[in-house]
Amino acid sequence: MDSLLKMENISKEYKTPYGRIKALRETSLEIERGEILGLVGESGSGKSTLANIIVRLIGSDGGRIVFNGEDITGLSEREFRKYRREIQMVFQDPYSSINPRKKIGYLLRECLKIHDKHLSEDEAERRVAESLEEVGLDPSYASRYPSNLSGGQRQRVAIALSLILRPRLIVLDEPVSALDVSVEAQILNLLMDLREKHGLTYLFISHDLNVVSYMADRIAVMYLGSIVEIGRTEEILGEMAHPYTKALFKASRDISATLSGEIPSPMNPPSGCPFNTRCAYRSERCSLECPELRSLSEGHLVACHYPLGEEERK
Ligand code: ADP
Ligand code: MG
Repeated sequence: MDSLLKMENISKEYKTPYGRIKALRETSLEIERGEILGLVGESGSGKSTLANIIVRLIGSDGGRIVFNGEDITGLSEREFRKYRREIQMVFQDPYSSINPRKKIGYLLRECLKIHDKHLSEDEAERRVAESLEEVGLDPSYASRYPSNLSGGQRQRVAIALSLILRPRLIVLDEPVSALDVSVEAQILNLLMDLREKHGLTYLFISHDLNVVSYMADRIAVMYLGSIVEIGRTEEILGEMAHPYTKALFKASRDISATLSGEIPSPMNPPSGCPFNTRCAYRSERCSLECPELRSLSEGHLVACHYPLGEEERK
């Protein structure tokens, strides 16, 4: 695989007054150059933690990250600067990621100037107009305030902000979850077009499996801080091997319909397989021994002692 981003054994613990939360448990994930990798899992499974570590909003406790062939794990803030423009992020809520009191043109220009101090005014102006047009907004939006825009338009501005530095990788953390369904489709199609046009690579995080199935070339399924299954989208949909993947996809919107009980607290995770307390197929071994991710077929990996067969998948 020609991987753009490779994460190996990333762990992350949050210390809280009530105890330690193990948000990532030696998680490994590779993103291929030019692909859309979908990351799914219930709320609390560690998706945003992983995303925030990739863009360096937070640090990890251990593991290794290789980006575009270079180990970026131990870089200082200064050394990381040249990668910062190459790895961008779009959040669920553009309200919290965009300063509402600054004009959109100002925000875009600032972003450009932080990374290129010598940029001329004319060139900056041109790039701002270009980036607005690229996300389907008229260049006149440069003189408007984010607070006057609809949710969809604001998310377009957030995408423009992530694009203006011409990144390689964009991490999208639930980018359409706050939008109306009609707007959602437009934004998804815009993201697809931009990926095509610029040869971008996306890590696309969503709890909505319909959205992920539509967008992603491959899907990774996360549970309690571990990747439990990963494969090409058709494989995950047609030959899902992990009982959790099955529960998740059969549930569509409401996982409590197919799974008993809540996701266990990451403060006190189960021993053995993290999913064993909710698994319909568990055996004794599952509460004793944590299954490793292993290959079922080329590129299709599952962390389960007893992967589902054809009959069980139904
Ligand atoms: P997801 O995005 O899949 O919902 P998160 O990465 O946000 O998952 O959270 C993983 C776990 O870490 C959850 O149990 C969450 O409560 C906890 N967590 C996330 N951020 C923090 C934080 N800043 N401090 C303490 N716990 C956190
Ligand atoms: Mg999240």
